Amino acid sequence: MSTTTQSQKDFEQACKLLPGGVNSPVRAFKSVGGTPRFFAKASGAYVWDVDNNQYIDYVGSWGPMILGHTHPDVVKGVQETAALGMSFGAPCELEIDLAQLVIDMVPSIDVVRFVNSGSEATMSALRLARGFTGRDKFIKFDGGYHGHADGFLVKAGSGAATFGEPDSAGVPADYAKLTLTAPFNDIEAVKNLFAENKGEIACIFVEPVPGNTGVMLLNDNGFLQQLRDICDAEGALLIFDEVMCGFRVSAGGAQERFGIMPDLTCLGKIIGGGLPVGAYGGREEIMRKISPDGPVYQAGTLSGNPLAMRAGIETLSRLRVPGFYEDLERKTTRLVEGLLEGCKAAGVPAVANQVGAMFTVFFTELDAVTCCSDVSNHCDLAFFGKFFNAMLDEGVYLAPSQYEAAFMSAAHTDADVENTIAAASRALAKLTA
Ligand code: PLP
Repeated sequence: MSTTTQSQKDFEQACKLLPGGVNSPVRAFKSVGGTPRFFAKASGAYVWDVDNNQYIDYVGSWGPMILGHTHPDVVKGVQETAALGMSFGAPCELEIDLAQLVIDMVPSIDVVRFVNSGSEATMSALRLARGFTGRDKFIKFDGGYHGHADGFLVKAGSGAATFGEPDSAGVPADYAKLTLTAPFNDIEAVKNLFAENKGEIACIFVEPVPGNTGVMLLNDNGFLQQLRDICDAEGALLIFDEVMCGFRVSAGGAQERFGIMPDLTCLGKIIGGGLPVGAYGGREEIMRKISPDGPVYQAGTLSGNPLAMRAGIETLSRLRVPGFYEDLERKTTRLVEGLLEGCKAAGVPAVANQVGAMFTVFFTELDAVTCCSDVSNHCDLAFFGKFFNAMLDEGVYLAPSQYEAAFMSAAHTDADVENTIAAASRALAKLTA
């Protein structure tokens, strides 16, 4: 077992000063137990904690670090830009360069607006959809996470689609009623919601590769195409939340991978290469409704910040190398296979969902995990916690929750992948001894 004395001291101190000792809840290790590691530095596929333990990192800052940590060109670019001014609160040319890259890469985006986080992107896109359609209600899917704005913190009632109830204290129940929810992959539930709320639904929000319940797969009946068709028929907008899967499952995101075009797309994570950037974009006719072109207000003191733009430019421009995504996917597939073989050898029932370079291994007796309630009702969350901590001891950093995706980066080598598989076999053997 590695020493974690300094992380423990830091966490005790942080708990006195910050709610739960953290600035974002899952970092607190509540669902897996143990002490959160405080990180001191990172390079490529590795992170080091304040006790100088090294980990192979499959969190990658929750997705952004697709090139690996501290990529020399990204660091150099940010340093150059910092020396010229950290923030102007006025237009700069880097905004044009990143906008051009995003528009070139993401097929459905004609015009884009930069913000500072994925949450800002989704809440702004929702306001825009409401402003454009003149309707107030919207649909999201059970377990879909679209950031922490009030209207998104709503879960579905058990099973059937239902009117929303707030998932967090502080969200007015009256406001949450505008959020309609349906189970993912359930097109009948979506049709029913439209039938029951004729002419009132502004948009459907969907993670085209759900990652916030652990990775989920689309069923094979063309769910996204059916959503596209319903939106067209009902005069509602289809909004892809590609904050996690954008630039991750292909250079053009899920819409390129699956060939379905949304009206609006929300982006985050990779688009900022590790600095705080979000964006929403889409059809010109809709995007021109945003202030100052149109009546939908949205603004930001630090939006389009030069450092963040430069980190995004340096990151995105390195994703278009031929074979980049094929290589990420090949390594991810090998890792998933190896992890499942390790589970089988240890007699631990498990299944995995993978799309491109994102995956989740679920500890379950089920043959397939297809929705959020499969995770809550049929996955061994306690065993996940033990596995997570055993992997930490083996020098592998996974997301501290069964409800999360893991991410491969370009910096992970085949040797890292094999070492991770071997580490998992040792961890599973210890846990089942
Ligand atoms: N949408 C999705 C699909 C996400 O995965 C996340 C964050 O994990 C968000 C929105 C919110 O992004 P942020 O944490 O940058 O506010």
